[in-house]
Amino acid sequence: MSTHDGAILDEAARWRSRDLAVLWHPCTQMREHPDVLPLLPVARGEGAWLVGHDGRRTLDAVSSWWTNLHGHAEPRIAAALARQAATLEQVILAGCSHPPAVELAERLLAIAPRQPGRPPLSKVFYADNGSAGVEVALKMAFHWFRNRGDEPRRTRFVALQNGYHGETLGALSVTDVPLYRRTYAPLLLEPVFAPSPDAWLAPAGQSAEGFAEDAADALAHLLDEHAGEVCAIVLEPLVQCAGGMRMHHPAYLRRVRELCDVHGIFLIADEIAVGFGRTGTMFACEQAGIQPDLMCLSKGLTGGFLPLAAVLATDAIYEGFLDDSRERAFLHSHSYTGNPLACAAALASLDIFEADGVLERNRATAARMGGLAHEIAALPHVVEARQCGMIVAFELAPDGRRGTRFDPARQVGLRAYRAALERGVLLRPLGEVLYWMPPYCIDAAQLDLLANVTAHAIREATT
Ligand SMILES: *Cc1c(COP(=O)(O)O)cnc(C)c1O
Repeated sequence: MSTHDGAILDEAARWRSRDLAVLWHPCTQMREHPDVLPLLPVARGEGAWLVGHDGRRTLDAVSSWWTNLHGHAEPRIAAALARQAATLEQVILAGCSHPPAVELAERLLAIAPRQPGRPPLSKVFYADNGSAGVEVALKMAFHWFRNRGDEPRRTRFVALQNGYHGETLGALSVTDVPLYRRTYAPLLLEPVFAPSPDAWLAPAGQSAEGFAEDAADALAHLLDEHAGEVCAIVLEPLVQCAGGMRMHHPAYLRRVRELCDVHGIFLIADEIAVGFGRTGTMFACEQAGIQPDLMCLSKGLTGGFLPLAAVLATDAIYEGFLDDSRERAFLHSHSYTGNPLACAAALASLDIFEADGVLERNRATAARMGGLAHEIAALPHVVEARQCGMIVAFELAPDGRRGTRFDPARQVGLRAYRAALERGVLLRPLGEVLYWMPPYCIDAAQLDLLANVTAHAIREATT
């Protein structure tokens, strides 16, 4: 090794130790760093690659927590941000207006899901991140009924088993992933959890659609039981992402839409992870032909450049807050609500969807992903490979059969993570589910690398 190589290696090591001296990382047992869990210092990003201080490339197969759409450091978004930063970086959105916030709202409403015969989503409320967006939607739903004067108050939400909506206390309340929720349960609201339509849970021989219908029947029963208490149902359409990339049949969403109308309650679609083309259509609700009353967007909204959330609402909801009294207004705010930089990044991302024909290109990419997934599905420890657009997930089990689980002490997910990282791919298994959720710019050679490394990681972790 030359002294030059030594110096670069030292640089990565130096960043690791400076980091661990001062940073407390998200969603991490810090004790696992650095020995059990290697820390990956990233110097820069380029397309689907994360590049280290030594120039070593790692494929970002999880789009940096599902945020990145068009690649890292995408030049067109970077340029739009630089222009906006030199024009207007931030202004209070209460009482003021600025072009990026207005234009983004117009364009989001123009592409939002439409259902014939329903008044469209017509107003946009901004928040700073996905969890905050979910808080906004929950508070709006509750407050709307309060403004209407419903007594007794409707204070409950319906959420789905195995659903995920974020980490702040309201969003965590409607989350049903025990690892995140259980510890804080004494602090949380108690929603009514309805059975998940997750097709993976269907008994042998039952179709995904049949299972979705059964889950909808169970929901109908719960709504009857809690009639008058509930103000909204919140769900992740088509894919419960943090819950293990569990997928369900769109028939479920059609039934939920009908049930919400029958009971006069709101349907909140949390498209934070699945929105912006991830499931194959711009929004997942489109595949069921339904339109929610409130739709939460974040993650990919800015192409992965900046945190921003948008909550889209119908006029019926908006008008429920118009009054002479300020208390009836939606007084929720965040300091950076509608930040111009974040809105400019989002506008640039929407431009790229059009200029590059992203949804159409993704159809070819998704087909390629499906072909590669098919080969991996043949590995002995893979029980199922499933796909929804640009999401592919592999369910692992000790003897490749449903209903069996690895001994947690084997740390299958962690071993797969390490094995993949050593070979230049950043996977981040959800328990024993390995998944691909790559930036849309991923090319054929990168997909081949991803598939080879995934197969290797599964073999290494399971034997
Ligand atoms: C990530 C996520 C959230 C929370 O978004 P944050 O920006 O991480 O707060 C909410 N809902 C869904 C479906 C998500 O995947």
